[in-house]
Amino acid sequence: MARVATGLDPLTAEERSARMSKVKARGNRSTERAVFGVLIEHGIDGWTQHCKDIVGRPDFFFERLPLALFVDGCFWHGCPVCDRNIPRNRVGFWRKKIEENRRRDRKVTRELRQAGVHVVRIWEHQIRDGSWVPPFRRILSRLGYNWRLALARGCGVSPQALSGNSPGTLAGEDPSDSVATS
Ligand SMILES: [Zn+2]
Repeated sequence: MARVATGLDPLTAEERSARMSKVKARGNRSTERAVFGVLIEHGIDGWTQHCKDIVGRPDFFFERLPLALFVDGCFWHGCPVCDRNIPRNRVGFWRKKIEENRRRDRKVTRELRQAGVHVVRIWEHQIRDGSWVPPFRRILSRLGYNWRLALARGCGVSPQALSGNSPGTLAGEDPSDSVATS
């Protein structure tokens, strides 16, 4: 693999890719932890994380609904709102990677929906501002989620369950309804 001789980007595509994968994994863990915290805080259960038997390994899978919840990083999944700055060198390389991710996301969503699974994708920036929570609660309600039981369950959460991290900020009555579902 030839080195890119600009001095700005001394890494091969593979090296750069491996490095960015680690960044991605770290980012993913923190956003997932925030979602995890919100679910616990709201007493929402009945989900498993990274269920490998399900197409696309959803970040959270609610078997009984059934509903797959994905947390998409704004850069890697090409968020139209954030439109993150793509590194100026090798723009084509990044665009290709992001487009591959988007294509895979669409394929996974399609396959799950065909199998009768509801799909919800939330953007990383929605985790930060909490705007995903009200629409997600509405989706759960629509699918017949039992909030009375959830409230009862939500009372006894131990702080340890949050892995020492505070849950994501809630936006209260944010009217935004950008969480998409089938
Ligand atoms: Zn975004």
